[in-house]
Amino acid sequence: MSKTKYIFVIGGVLSGVGKGVTAASIGRILKNRGFNVSVIKIDPYINIDAGTMNPLEHGEVFVTEDGDETDQDLGNYERFLETNIYSYNYMTTGRVYMNVIEKERSMFYKGRCVQVVPHIPMEVISRIKTAAQKTKAEIMIIEIGGTVGEYENILFLEAARMMKLDAPDDVAFVLVSYMPVPSHLGEMKTKPTQHAARTLNNSGIQADFIVARGKDELDKPRREKLAFFCWLRSQDDVIAAPDVPSIYEIPLVLEKQKFAGLLMKRLKIRPRQLIDKRWDNFVAKMKKVKKSVKIAVVGKYFATGEYTLSDSYISVINAVKHAAWHNGVNAEMTWLDSEDYEKNPEKVKELGGYDALIVPGGFGTRGIEGIIAAIKYVRENDLPYLGLCYGMQLATIEFARHVLKLKDAHTVECDPKSKNLIININNTQADNIKNERYGGTMRLGAYDCDLTPGSIAHQLYGADKISERHRHRYEFDNKYKAEMEKKDMVFSGINPQSDLVEIIELKKHPYFVGVQFHPEFKSRFLEPHPLFVGLVKAAIKNK
Ligand code: GLN
Repeated sequence: MSKTKYIFVIGGVLSGVGKGVTAASIGRILKNRGFNVSVIKIDPYINIDAGTMNPLEHGEVFVTEDGDETDQDLGNYERFLETNIYSYNYMTTGRVYMNVIEKERSMFYKGRCVQVVPHIPMEVISRIKTAAQKTKAEIMIIEIGGTVGEYENILFLEAARMMKLDAPDDVAFVLVSYMPVPSHLGEMKTKPTQHAARTLNNSGIQADFIVARGKDELDKPRREKLAFFCWLRSQDDVIAAPDVPSIYEIPLVLEKQKFAGLLMKRLKIRPRQLIDKRWDNFVAKMKKVKKSVKIAVVGKYFATGEYTLSDSYISVINAVKHAAWHNGVNAEMTWLDSEDYEKNPEKVKELGGYDALIVPGGFGTRGIEGIIAAIKYVRENDLPYLGLCYGMQLATIEFARHVLKLKDAHTVECDPKSKNLIININNTQADNIKNERYGGTMRLGAYDCDLTPGSIAHQLYGADKISERHRHRYEFDNKYKAEMEKKDMVFSGINPQSDLVEIIELKKHPYFVGVQFHPEFKSRFLEPHPLFVGLVKAAIKNK
């Protein structure tokens, strides 16, 4: 297959129904047939990247290998497709406009009037094609953010329409919509989706398929109705996607309705059979898991309710689950607010009721004394610990305060006047802050790390050299290294180019590991991350 085929995934009715997971699942069922599949996410906001947005409102910032700060959906793509997604797989309105404006300034348009239409959609198309080329994708899935009928994504829909007109057999449209069940009626309604399909028609786009999200399965009359009123070719083109216990089951739900076959037919791709059954097999295994371990996660940000919370740390949650399933257990995760430990120091003892603790990444001062108290508790009580980024930084501060007796030990982020800045700032970062250059200026993306032979990290990775993704501004100050080593802290991961500390661990502890990077970004459903596996194994032992 030489030409790339394009599948646009568009949302209808309301957001938050799992458009990203649907896009990723479509990718998976095609990948299972041996196609080279890649994915593009289009976000309609003006921001250049997701790095400057509040994770509580917008969910996690997912970091790519090449250091782009993107939308959390890209994490799902990587987890589902077992492939790396790069900066060119992601675009925002801001990026598109910035490029067009820069090109205009450099006379790229040779004196023509540069207009919203066609120049913006043309830029979008050029980006889509570049990504297809770079990834060598046979099938490129493009998720357009937002829902139909909004102003914000109109120009992206226009780009999609233009691509379809140009090559009708190479482009397919999937409308992911929602079937509400009003409580006073108790039955599923198709009308909102009918409206969404019509609104899509107004943009010159006819849906080829409708993925009907909802609480339950679709019955026959509703399938008929949707196919008829949304002008689909056949009832088979309506794919039911009812709620399932785990998102990882969705590819199987789509497969059962022969969605891959229908897509291949619509795109005139020579049909291929399902050959890679690893995904389906592991889902079956996952569903049989009965036992569980209890993992506490301590941080700030947690007082805002379950929904936003799980969005802010979605990669961490998934990494823990992957590692747990691969070790035959479920992970029961509990979110504990560190500010509670500041108000009531005795409360930290509740951690004794869990099998392990994670402190995830974070920023700023709020709640950190409570986090430090939690780390002290697990260090002294031999409870397995994994600190991610801020979780590593705060572990070194806790150690400096209570083992080295440096009472004022701190991070420059919270107390720049402290005499013992265990976590400090380098010149470039100081300069960035001084000049208010916040966007895209942290240490971002993949960096090498050498592992110390014999360390926990070395054993778990089974390698001398690794590479992991970063997103932080501050670093461990090497002047405290020797003192800490004397007290049995091991610096088991060092950046070979800059000598920066990337991994710390403790000798006399069952599992106490802190990492300056974010291992959660590289964990996949079929391939759990070694450090999370280490934590889960220690948690099982601790039970
Ligand atoms: N706030 C810390 C820093 O910027 C840690 C960042 C993080 O946890 N991602 O260095």
